[in-house]
Amino acid sequence: MNKVNQQVSKYIPVELQKVLDAASSPVSKILSNALFGNEVSENDGMVLFNCRDNKKVTDRNAIFAVADILRQRSKGDYVTFVVNRNINFTNICYMGCRFCGFAKRKEEAGSEWLEPAQVVERAQQAWDRGGTEVCIQGGLHPKMEGNYYRELVLAIKSALPDMHIHAFSPFEIWYGAVKSKLSFRTFLNDLKDCGLGSMPGTAAEILDTEVRQKLTKNKLSADCWEEIIRTAHDVGIPSTATIMYGHVDEPKHWAAHIALLREIQRDTGGFTELVPLSFVHTDSPLFLNNPNSVRPGPTDHEVDLMHSVSRIMLNGFIDNIQVSWTKLGAERARNLLSKGVNDLGGTLMNESISRSAGSKHGQEITAAELCEIIRSAGRIPVRRNTIYKNVDIYKDHNPIDISPLVERKSDPLSFLKMFPETTG
Ligand code: SF4
Repeated sequence: MNKVNQQVSKYIPVELQKVLDAASSPVSKILSNALFGNEVSENDGMVLFNCRDNKKVTDRNAIFAVADILRQRSKGDYVTFVVNRNINFTNICYMGCRFCGFAKRKEEAGSEWLEPAQVVERAQQAWDRGGTEVCIQGGLHPKMEGNYYRELVLAIKSALPDMHIHAFSPFEIWYGAVKSKLSFRTFLNDLKDCGLGSMPGTAAEILDTEVRQKLTKNKLSADCWEEIIRTAHDVGIPSTATIMYGHVDEPKHWAAHIALLREIQRDTGGFTELVPLSFVHTDSPLFLNNPNSVRPGPTDHEVDLMHSVSRIMLNGFIDNIQVSWTKLGAERARNLLSKGVNDLGGTLMNESISRSAGSKHGQEITAAELCEIIRSAGRIPVRRNTIYKNVDIYKDHNPIDISPLVERKSDPLSFLKMFPETTG
């Protein structure tokens, strides 16, 4: 046992100590420091991410175990989710991000544009099904007016004053502000006054100029993303944080990205959670046009490490680590509950961005099903609102079991048949 581990051993379970002792010295030292509550530096984060390549599993096992302990210390046995509906008001977009399988040109089959009244109709359906949030994002339609965003928020709030509107990526805020000839601050303040509750921290991809040049021709720079997010937090609009990984990126980019999110959070406190988003390559032009230089999404080790190392690096800063079931599927999502994850995201009802890129994990997992997944992992399901206030703790009861909004081709819970003793 090394010196650092001798010091922490009285604070950690014997089994975890054994796992730490089996890890290599640099990894064990970093993890022991994390268990003491010390910040893991960007460089140390890179050392942990680089364990994706280790032939031996002991380093990775130690990382997963420490992430699980930090999750337990912060969140106990509770695993949260939100009942929400995804609404994409348009997929028409000419920005040409190379990784995107969602955007279409106006004349293409399958292109779609929803007027505010049609979005309200969908939001009303979500409300009637118990939803408390609508998550709204769209393409950057070349003909849309900058005031569409505020009209949309006003229309929803006028019909459903208590619905939380979680909407508009920093790329959309940039677009709306430019089109309206307003500063980001003025544009965001106005949206907040209209009723915008929070923002998805998407369009972050990897916050590195070289990588962004390859993904999006750097149309929204890393600096601009950061400026918009900091301004949103400053005017009182919280946001999620995301990272999209597994394409032309490397561990050094991941560590720098997570460290930057931590710096922003240190200053603003405005991030509600981190959502790692694995690159879905199947229908993505980035991969289809460059199959030899672009990776087909992250490996299984990389997915595991992304959730675990994020938990470790963000410990005490962003304490909600969400797994995206729409990217990874229900079974992988459940598996990650033992690697630092404490949140399963939303029911979604109408997922379409990942599906357009080739993801096959469906559009909806109902609240009752999410509870089943969580219980099968030995945890307690909790329904939360968008900003992580508990709505219902399902210790001795279940949510109302309603059918999915859109008929599904397969049962997302079929994998639970492997765990018959733990399922209801
Ligand atoms: S990622 Fe967004 S901005 Fe980029 S092409 Fe796709 S829809 Fe447009």
